[in-house]
Amino acid sequence: MLPTTAALDDERADRTPPPQVVDPAGAALLPRLAGPPLPRRLVSEAPGWVREVDVVVVGSGVAGLTAALECRERMGPDSRVMVVTKDVVAAGSTRWAQGGIASVQAEGDSVAEHVTDTLVAGAGLCEPAAVDVLVREGPAEVATLVERGTLFDLDAAGALALTREGGHHRNRIAHAGGDATGAEIERALVASVKSDPGVEIVEQALVLDLLPARTEDGAPAVAGVTLHVLGEGTRQGVGAVRARAVVLATGGIGQIYAVTTNPPVSTGDGLAAALRAGARLRDVEFIQFHPTVLFLGTGARGQLPLVSEAVRGEGGLLVNSAGERFMVGQHELAELAPRDVVAKGIMKEMAREGTDHVYVDGRMLGEETWRVRFPTILHSCRRAGIDPVSDLIPVAPAAHYFCGGVETDLDGATNLAGLYACGEVASSGVHGANRLASNSLLEGLVFAARIAGSLARDLPPLRTPLDDDRPAWLVDPAVVPALQRTMSRDCGGLRNANGLDRAAGGLDRLSRRRTDEAGLAAWEATNLLCVAVAVLSSARQREESRGAHWRDDFGERRDSWQRHLVVQAEDDQLVHRLTPVGAETVRDQTVGDETLGEEMSTMNGSAR
Ligand SMILES: Cc1cc2nc3c(=O)[nH]c(=O)nc-3n(C[C@H](O)[C@H](O)[C@H](O)COP(=O)(O)OP(=O)(O)OC[C@H]3O[C@@H](n4cnc5c(N)ncnc54)[C@H](O)[C@@H]3O)c2cc1C
Repeated sequence: MLPTTAALDDERADRTPPPQVVDPAGAALLPRLAGPPLPRRLVSEAPGWVREVDVVVVGSGVAGLTAALECRERMGPDSRVMVVTKDVVAAGSTRWAQGGIASVQAEGDSVAEHVTDTLVAGAGLCEPAAVDVLVREGPAEVATLVERGTLFDLDAAGALALTREGGHHRNRIAHAGGDATGAEIERALVASVKSDPGVEIVEQALVLDLLPARTEDGAPAVAGVTLHVLGEGTRQGVGAVRARAVVLATGGIGQIYAVTTNPPVSTGDGLAAALRAGARLRDVEFIQFHPTVLFLGTGARGQLPLVSEAVRGEGGLLVNSAGERFMVGQHELAELAPRDVVAKGIMKEMAREGTDHVYVDGRMLGEETWRVRFPTILHSCRRAGIDPVSDLIPVAPAAHYFCGGVETDLDGATNLAGLYACGEVASSGVHGANRLASNSLLEGLVFAARIAGSLARDLPPLRTPLDDDRPAWLVDPAVVPALQRTMSRDCGGLRNANGLDRAAGGLDRLSRRRTDEAGLAAWEATNLLCVAVAVLSSARQREESRGAHWRDDFGERRDSWQRHLVVQAEDDQLVHRLTPVGAETVRDQTVGDETLGEEMSTMNGSAR
């Protein structure tokens, strides 16, 4: 099940000159990498039906449902909001979240300290303004969650019971049902949305692509979505929803890997559709591998149960096969170091011992704590024949959280007018190169609410979709297992040029296996390919180790790389641009040769 089988490579790649800033906006266009071709649209029947709403929200996790509720509250009773979701309403990552939700609640804690912990985890790539917004507005959004019926665990005094997780220097993680926080949040939000007749929820509705449009000034815009609804209308259920605003809240991309904590719906559809439509994706190479996923044997595949960091927060220890702690001395917080540090510590220990897992020792917590605080984990372990009360729990890292995403400003707006993004699919700037534990549910809440606020102030006009003649094709769904193996082996938690180049060749071959049969499997497979190619190409470009991106051929963090890496589609290839941290998000930049100066040849240009 290892996500990190790229062999440790002794051979160090030649150091290349640091990338230079070459255009007035402070962006540097990087030399192109030859990569697999990408479609700019999915093949499907022409829409057989059309609906019109004010806001269409794609996805029904914490971000999508909050966006829908907040839009209704802030835009008034006549607003028409539709939530489309590709499976049943509760099928996303949100319901699997265990540890909890971070916010400044405790006496003695402060905005400054939460900000600092977030920035430290983000390894120099957080957008400070976004982190400030997250931390300042977080407590009020958690209070709104409580008003919407979320039952958090309380302490003896009736206040939120708060715990600590990796990278936090204070107890600030609220949890529910012990370790069933996400399920409780999802339950409360679904109930709230269902009680509002002004929100239309359409389940089994898979969004395919964004409808392209232009603003009055000719800038690229989005006018709605095409989607396939099981059993709806004619022409195999393909239709279009025209909307003034599209809010992407489609969650993560864990399914590009062979083993992940993410559910089956996390195939990166929203990210892929945004990429095909010309949206700017940012920092997509940063994928957090959760250090402690239940190890179910070497052949295990797909979604695997998490052994939450909160177990270590309560006193659980990491030990090797000899029963020795190995995180002590690697970081001042030992087992509670930020996730990337713990994941790397585990990977190194596994490499040192020649094993494919280590252990969490939670025996000292006792049966009562296991039953009350960690019922979900206890159940998962016991189902696998492991009793954490008396046994060590075998664990290994697996793909967990997507730190990058569709680049947004502080109000969730993207470079395409009418397109907004929030939650895991978005890069709001709060996570930088690595997410601080339990900041993601919070991010979903805060930025979904900000999108609604912005739409209430300034709702875009209903735009007319352009004729969509973008090149369309589908990859054969049979390639998915090979794609996942390739990404796990060569673009997982440990990366180097040899493995990344091999993976590029592998994806190129897989991308040429096409199908004419449009349908769920081919649409998802093509989305996985688009996302994998974007992640892989960005990982090849970033020649340093930082946060969740660890290259053993460029083992150090490099100051010259303290920039965001933005990736955008041009024709059937990708272009990459470095942008400064802390600059205002650029709404739209033409991707063209005009930014290519002579300096280009001096930039990050190792022979490829
Ligand atoms: C096991 C696990 C534990 C976690 N623990 C924590 C934690 O303790 N604290 C924390 O802060 N974070 C945690 N996270 C991360 C957190 O749960 C997610 O980042 C967050 O829930 C994402 O919310 P979201 O609304 O962006 O996406 P999701 O909840 O994943 O929802 C995405 C939605 O989009 C829909 N969708 C996807 N594609 C399409 C399409 N093409 N058309 C229509 N709909 C589509 C899906 O069906 C789903 O409804 C955890 C994640 C996992 C997997």
